[in-house]
Amino acid sequence: MSTNLKHVKSILLPPPYHMVGDGFRVHNFFPQLPVIGLTGMSPFFLMDYNSKWEVPASDRQRGVGVHPHRGFETVSIAYHGKIAHHDSAGNSGVIGEGDVQWMTAASGVLHKEYHEKEFSMKGGLFQMVQLWVNLPAKCKMTPAKYQAIENKDMGKFTLDGGKGIVEIIAGEYNGVKGPAFTFTPMNVFNAKLSKGATADFSFPSNYNTGFLVIDGEVSVNSEKPASEDSFIYFENKGTEIRLEARKDSTVLILSGEPINEPIASHGPFVMNTDEEIKEAYEDYYNGKFGYLED
Ligand code: MN
Repeated sequence: MSTNLKHVKSILLPPPYHMVGDGFRVHNFFPQLPVIGLTGMSPFFLMDYNSKWEVPASDRQRGVGVHPHRGFETVSIAYHGKIAHHDSAGNSGVIGEGDVQWMTAASGVLHKEYHEKEFSMKGGLFQMVQLWVNLPAKCKMTPAKYQAIENKDMGKFTLDGGKGIVEIIAGEYNGVKGPAFTFTPMNVFNAKLSKGATADFSFPSNYNTGFLVIDGEVSVNSEKPASEDSFIYFENKGTEIRLEARKDSTVLILSGEPINEPIASHGPFVMNTDEEIKEAYEDYYNGKFGYLED
């Protein structure tokens, strides 16, 4: 392994959770935490992490009602439980356990997101991540679209000795590509390692990089351990990372080329200027995002 290590800048514990609607109990690692802020994980703008939550059975589907998005993509990764969605273009579907929905809101969409019906009625363990992936200015007003990425569609790299697997959602790992189309270069992987296993990663030094510990306990580059629900945030220098599982572990791996453009964000919109935010609200209030029943 090269000695050009990408060192840990900090291991961040999950900030207190807040509710998004009544269905998502999320810790916002960014942009809320000042060490990362608006641009420290660019092109990833936001990460809401719904840590493990035993959801009681309910006749009513918990979730968040109709709301707009513009200027970015929402990427929903389901680890436990199932999420249903509907949008103003007539699309709907279910994100199953282990699956990903990559929604390009771009010029605009209205949608609602909630627990899937059968899951709601039974209740059970719920754990997911929602990322907001920013778009470069020239792509912000392109048409909305979806990529439904089932677990079976993901690239799979089996580690030596079968002690783990890296699922490639976007980008490339050891020659295996992920299915997601992205507007800018990025890597989104799930690393699932048995206790004692290691996996080596190499990302360009300027790529913003962070690992979220979904399950278990890991260390990187033989530094101090990171426990479940913590986020390992890396320096923008060096390239090589060795991930070591101290328990059976699942880790969400994010690394992407920063989009070096101004950010204006408010509520559900991520644009480049305040004027564009104002336009987004005007278009929303004038019905230009379409219609969706609550
Ligand atoms: Mn949404």
